Amino acid sequence: MPFNHDNMIGVRLAERLVNLRATRSWTSEALASALHDALVRFDTVDPELERGLSAWASELRTVFAADDVDGRMASVNAVLAVGVRKVQLATHDGLPPHLHFADHESGVLDRVRAMTSGGLAVFATEAGGGRMGICARQGCDCVFADVSKNGRRAYCSAACGNRDAVQRYRARSAHRR
Ligand SMILES: [Zn+2]
Ligand SMILES: [Zn+2]
Repeated sequence: MPFNHDNMIGVRLAERLVNLRATRSWTSEALASALHDALVRFDTVDPELERGLSAWASELRTVFAADDVDGRMASVNAVLAVGVRKVQLATHDGLPPHLHFADHESGVLDRVRAMTSGGLAVFATEAGGGRMGICARQGCDCVFADVSKNGRRAYCSAACGNRDAVQRYRARSAHRR
């Protein structure tokens, strides 16, 4: 499935904000690099922005955590209602026409809310409400958006998939004794 690349920047930022909290690696430095990587214009990550992003990350988590399509639609609609005020079609840098959710005039938090909620809405549409979830490894709370070919991803990362396989193997071996 060819997921829209520009839109995936918002999805990846959503994933990253949620996972910074899930892995307890939420610091102003980590936030600054997440914003930088998502091409978000900002000066500094002050405590007020940090609090705003933290509250927003817990809203975003509900989208990944939803356990069926109806629940996901409700969560996406809830973040859209807060996040997106204006949508525009744009082309630049040789890209095909795509949607822009963030308004250049808005502050950092509003732009992050817009691009993450708008991005998740487009992704949820393209993915038929699926392809999002929480890592299947016990003890990992990270979320993921699945762009794999078969759409059957269960772990946040290859590392978690491998660790889980090792844990399951050990559990089986222990039973055999
Ligand atoms: Zn663009
Ligand atoms: Zn994981």
